[in-house]
Amino acid sequence: MNKVICIDGPAGSGKSTTAHAVSETLGVLFVDSGALYRIMTRECLRAGVDTADPAAVAAFCKGVKVDFVVKGGRVAYEVGGEEPGDTIRTPEINAHVSPVSAVPEVRAIVTGWLRDMPRLGDIVVEGRDIGSVVYPDSPYRFYLDCDPDERARRRQKEDASKGFVQTEEQVKASLLARDRIDSSRKTAPLKVPEGAIRIDTTHLPVEGVVAEIARHLR
Ligand code: C5P
Repeated sequence: MNKVICIDGPAGSGKSTTAHAVSETLGVLFVDSGALYRIMTRECLRAGVDTADPAAVAAFCKGVKVDFVVKGGRVAYEVGGEEPGDTIRTPEINAHVSPVSAVPEVRAIVTGWLRDMPRLGDIVVEGRDIGSVVYPDSPYRFYLDCDPDERARRRQKEDASKGFVQTEEQVKASLLARDRIDSSRKTAPLKVPEGAIRIDTTHLPVEGVVAEIARHLR
């Protein structure tokens, strides 16, 4: 099987930036698992499905169709022939994605998609349950941690650059609310995967995190 590098951690811990850099440095495909839960959430909201109703979410998400296309070093997702772009990064999606991703049927669908991706090549996958549930047997599993204030500072800047302007306090509250649901859900909660390498990114620039990962891969 092709190589799978797993990077898990809470919202804003630097997973995405790190996984992008690992993808470029090592020439492996970048896979954003959170985007798949965000797509499910966007489709639910567009269809008027109540995201607080797990049965309704499960029934609706069975019919969501996503195409997977290799584009510029990453696995891109297309819904109805179009990439979702920043339409899945809005504060509204942030507020609904954790309850949607807590639905076991939704997780089963996304996990199936993710397990199919190594057929496209070597991959680096970022998420919450990649090293613990999706690829527990991968020898390359990392967990990124970071102080919540620093996570909020990074995410506020990133969101503002996309036009979603909120205070650092609002962003922190949203991150912590998602962390709470993500870590306490019954199916595949956010946790440090057993045997994963833990890296604290609070004071470490992305180059340092990538160097640390590359050192372990060697
Ligand atoms: O990584 P990102 O912040 O885009 O993830 C959005 C949400 O998707 C997370 O808060 C979590 O609820 C869910 N998620 C998950 N499992 C993953 C990746 C993301 O439950 N592997």
